[in-house]
This record gives sequence, C-alpha cells and structure tokens, in this order.
Amino acid sequence: MTDDQGWADVGFNGCQDIPTPHIDRIAQEGVRFVEAYVTFPVCGPSRAGFLTGRYQDRFGFTTNPSIDPCNPEAGLPLEEETIAQVLQKADYRSAIIGKWHMGTHPLFHPLERGFDYFFGFLSGGHNYYPHDLYLNDITQVTKKWEWYRTKLIENRQPINTHEYLTDELSNAAVRFIKKQSDDGQHFMLYLAYNAPHTPLQATEEYLARFPDIKDEKRKTYAAMVSAVDDGVGWILQTLVDQGIDENTLIVFLSDNGGASNNASQNTPLRGFKSDLFEGGIRVPLAMRWKGVIPAGQHFNKPVSSLDIMATIVAQNEIPIAPERPLDGVDLIPFLTKKKDGDPHDYLFWRKWEQDAMAVRKDHLKLVSNWNQEGGLPFLFDVVSDISENKQLAGDNQQDLDDLMSHWNDWNAQLKDRVFPTLGADVWWTEAQR
Ligand code: CA
Repeated sequence: MTDDQGWADVGFNGCQDIPTPHIDRIAQEGVRFVEAYVTFPVCGPSRAGFLTGRYQDRFGFTTNPSIDPCNPEAGLPLEEETIAQVLQKADYRSAIIGKWHMGTHPLFHPLERGFDYFFGFLSGGHNYYPHDLYLNDITQVTKKWEWYRTKLIENRQPINTHEYLTDELSNAAVRFIKKQSDDGQHFMLYLAYNAPHTPLQATEEYLARFPDIKDEKRKTYAAMVSAVDDGVGWILQTLVDQGIDENTLIVFLSDNGGASNNASQNTPLRGFKSDLFEGGIRVPLAMRWKGVIPAGQHFNKPVSSLDIMATIVAQNEIPIAPERPLDGVDLIPFLTKKKDGDPHDYLFWRKWEQDAMAVRKDHLKLVSNWNQEGGLPFLFDVVSDISENKQLAGDNQQDLDDLMSHWNDWNAQLKDRVFPTLGADVWWTEAQR
C-alpha cells in the first residue's frame, strides 16, 4: 500500500513521466482493476476499512484519530478484528512494515492487534531521512507534527536506522519474507509505505533518475514513487528466489487518491485526496496470483479495498464472526469467470464531519451533502463521464431516490465518531504535562 499516490501515477494507469516497471508487473501478470475504490478519501479511515474488511463508520472510525498516546479511545476499536487477527485462525504469521495510523496508545499497538511483527512508526506520516528521526518515542513529542521525527520501532523497541525510509521499509519486507519462507511458515505482510505522502523528500540516487522533470515538487514525488517501485522489485525477486512466486497473492494499491500538496496526478479524475469525487477515492489497484488469476486482465466492474480481506479470508475458508460481517466480496470467482456480473450492487461513502455522502451503483454515482437544504446533488455516469463533468441530477429523480434510499439504509447502520479527531491532540503541550 502506498500513501496519497495519484490514480494516474502508475504505469498501468498510463503514467508517462514516472516509470513503475515492477508495480506494473503485478498488473501485467495478474489483473488491473480499472474502477477500484477505497472506503474513504484520507489515510486513517481508509486503512481502518481495509484492515477490518468492514466499512469503518460501522465502528465510528470516521476521520483520522488524534495522535495521542494517552487516549485509549483514539484508535481502531478493540472489539473489531484486523485481518491479522483473522488470519491467526489459519496459522498465518503477519507483519506490518511501515505506517500504522490505527492509534498510538499502547492498547492499539500492532502487536496487540494480531500482528506478529512490527517495523515502522505509529503515526500518520513520517520524515524520510534517518538523521531527522531523533525522538526516542512518541511520548517525547513537544509540538504538533513532531511525531514525524520519532525513531522507527521494531516490535516495541525504538531503533536507529541509516537508510532512506522507503529503502529501510523495503529491506525489512525482504527480511521478513525470507525468514518466513525459510521457516516454511505462511505469512501475510502488510507493507504500508508512507511514500509518496508529504514531506516530499528523496535521495540523490532517486532524484537523478528524473533529469527531465523540471518541476521540483513533481521531480521529488517521482523519485519517491521510483523508490517504492524499486522496493516492489526487490520483493518480487525475493519471492522468486525463495520459490514462493507461484503461491503468493500480491496486491498493490494506494490508500486514497493523490493529494493536492504532493504533486501527484489523478488525471482524468476530478478532485484530490479528501474529496468524494473520483480523484479522492478511486485508486490504482492490481492483484497477482500466478496460476489462479489469469494474467493480463483489465477488470472493469467497481471493486472496493474491502474486497481484499474478503478475498483472502474466503480463499483460506476462515469463518467470520456473525456479529462482524465483512462488507467485501471474494473477487477470485469473478477473475476466474466462475461468476459474472457486478461484485457489488452498491458502494457507499460517508464523511461524517462534513455531512457528505456518495453512493455508486452500476454506472451511476451520487455525490451530495445530506444536510444541504435545497442544494442540488451531483449525479454522474462515471463510466461515460470519468471526469464527473456532466451533471445528470435534474431529470433522474427515480435514480436519485433509489441511490439516496439505499444510502440512508446503510447510514442507519453506522456509528458517529468515537474518538477526538486529528488536531484535537494537545496532550503534548506543557499545560498537559
Ligand atoms: Ca493517504
């Protein structure tokens, strides 16, 4: 998983100025999802949905939680099960390498949430140069955003690192995969790169690959994506070297659309990170499972990041607790043509803080503000109008009513926010100490 990477910033979605040959191999040797969505247009809620396989507002994860190691509410609610907890039932070993963002209180630590190994950082973003990482841990933070400067953590220990962060994470991923396959242990690795999220920082080695990009921001962004692509290449090679290339399912995606501040590109999609237009929620997604998923597919039906957990759980035949049903579907039967039709009848989104909603059914997508009295909702045919320019709401009352009524039924199942939002975190101020 990458962070804030634009829809158009992978070769398999047509990117011209940033080669991503290794990421593209996942799509070429497997499937490229043309209309893939995450469940929220910013990091935290999107990841909470991805990691539980459930719409995150079912458990009140409506926004980025405050970065607050003193708050036992500000994280992924403990009554939810992560994909790592579920996979323990099938004897998997799981790791998260990179960005956690599911709470900084010790109760929310990845090792408490089903993961057997953690190498990374707890907050929602991080500096990339090792000399910038000087705080021993998050409790030493004295000002906002200083959590970007904590040392990396291995399991529960702060460690000194020496590489550019993206390389550090890629190397840790390779080590984990080697160890598990040497032990004959099946595994799940959640490699959560923070690249290319801000701050825009890249090394000379990667910057030198882009002499023709004149815009400095875009050049640095390109270098950051290129570093991720190298890491993907190391991992793909490790799978070959370890002889587990054929029986490893690999998924690549971004956690939300490209942001307006990191020089990413979502073209031709409308909008950016934090929007419910396609630019905020439609992401690059590719999946490879050699011998199972026929290679070179372009899958055109809408799919969700929720489907990744559902697919993995179904393929391992792991029972799911009835009180926490998954919202995704197993995609494998659709990719092997055993099933036809749309994996989802409806896909839903909610931005609780903004009273904003969206719903997709077939070609149609409704984007609206549910408390906006008299305001015209946006209705688009996102298949013929990928850029969401042609407003259809005026003479489609029946479609509007259907979409709105299904969204209302879904919304009635959701919770309000259960923790303080990012920005409410003042625990580090002197007054609090
Ligand atoms: Ca993000």
